[in-house]
Amino acid sequence: MPDPVPVTRFAPSPTGALHLGNARTALFSWLYARQAGGRFLLRIEDTDAGRSTESYLDALVDDLRWLGLDWQEGPDVGGPAAPYRQSERTALYADFEERLRVTGAAYPCYCTPAELELSRKAMLSAGKPPRYAGTCRELTAAQRRDREARGLAPTLRFRVQPGATVAFDDFVFGAQRFATDDIGDFIVRRADGSAAFFFCNAVDDALMGVTHVLRGEDHLTNTPRQILVLGSLGLPVPAYGHVSLIVGDDGTPLSKRHGAMSVAELRARGYLATAVRNLLFRLGHSTSARGLLAPDAMAAAFDRRHLGRSPSRFDIAQLDVWQREAVHALSDDAFEAWAGAALPANRGAAERAAFIAAVRPNVVFPDEVRAWAEVVFGAPPPLSDAAEAVVRDAGGAFFDAAAAAAAASDNDLATIAAAAREATGRKGPALYKPLRLALTGLDHGPELAPLLRAMPHDAPHDRLIRYAR
Ligand code: GLU
Ligand code: ZN
Repeated sequence: MPDPVPVTRFAPSPTGALHLGNARTALFSWLYARQAGGRFLLRIEDTDAGRSTESYLDALVDDLRWLGLDWQEGPDVGGPAAPYRQSERTALYADFEERLRVTGAAYPCYCTPAELELSRKAMLSAGKPPRYAGTCRELTAAQRRDREARGLAPTLRFRVQPGATVAFDDFVFGAQRFATDDIGDFIVRRADGSAAFFFCNAVDDALMGVTHVLRGEDHLTNTPRQILVLGSLGLPVPAYGHVSLIVGDDGTPLSKRHGAMSVAELRARGYLATAVRNLLFRLGHSTSARGLLAPDAMAAAFDRRHLGRSPSRFDIAQLDVWQREAVHALSDDAFEAWAGAALPANRGAAERAAFIAAVRPNVVFPDEVRAWAEVVFGAPPPLSDAAEAVVRDAGGAFFDAAAAAAAASDNDLATIAAAAREATGRKGPALYKPLRLALTGLDHGPELAPLLRAMPHDAPHDRLIRYAR
């Protein structure tokens, strides 16, 4: 039988900015669904009311769309399993919790946080892995009534059967086996009545028809608990694949130290979504597909069997390589839209076009566009002492001739250079370096001829004449 059409999801908690690790998980999930003509859905895990905010949620959706992802079901687009925000699904969780309670698969636990902490410490000091001691597991009805009468608000704990094994085949990490004796009874409903992450996350995957869960490696050890919950509710269990962590170039977990770590920061610096996608695609996912890939080509090239188990290293220099390719691949219109505010204001379309044509090959970030706009349209550039020395060395006659040729030739570089060569006998770098320095203030940059054409009409003459006799 062929595999069913995959349904994947991204299930972020709106408690902070979208970071690269989560963005990559979202991308992989989206690609996997897209490749097979499946569905990708967005579910918002906002049960932690204290930490979730609407502005994080808006930013998250905005960043995902910027990355080029779309979803067939989600809070903003609806769908058959709506609602897609967990904060709107509490009645549903309560219903499933009640089923667990009625069948005895879960039981009320009256232990206070202080008692649990004490027990945890005792286990640790006895050299045992800390897990719930089972204090409330076998309370009689009378004992429960007694605790309720004392005003103790219970949590609901899932009863893990001892002496068993939970096995599953992670499609990244391979065969997994967990002894239930190591798991311990865990909370499915908190004392305040809210559903715990393990629980609603698993129930929602089942109710939303998710077939493949791709998520961070940090959730691998949660999976056996979730499989137990789904099993006792008679709900389908998805296939799980845990994606390895992203670390910085020094091998430590990704953080601020390694550069901009949120999608929003990268956007603000002018990185293109194409560059970010192409980098993420190759982080922890080996592929023989070379070069900048468009979304469909990327979906076709995605192979979940090629997801790696070892941490993947993020290197901002690699992102810059993709950025260079992505900027060069932009159409002129798209370049103009990307460079946006960095482009010179108050210039006609022809002037803007000439400027873009001149600087495009040399820019990777909008800041560089801004800097070149200043060189081309700003005041005559000041020279460093070293540059000044080079220019003075070329001599007044050199610039006399160059300035006159600029005015006479409509800023044609070949004519300007020929005149300066004739006046001084200079050629090669000795000819072009003083010209470039006098015209731009810099000894490097885009090809000089188009740069001259992009300048306001009198600018080249006015810059050159500064160094004439
Ligand atoms: N809300 C969870 C997180 O952001 C989702 C984990 C999962 O994908 O299952 O970590
Ligand atoms: Zn208890």
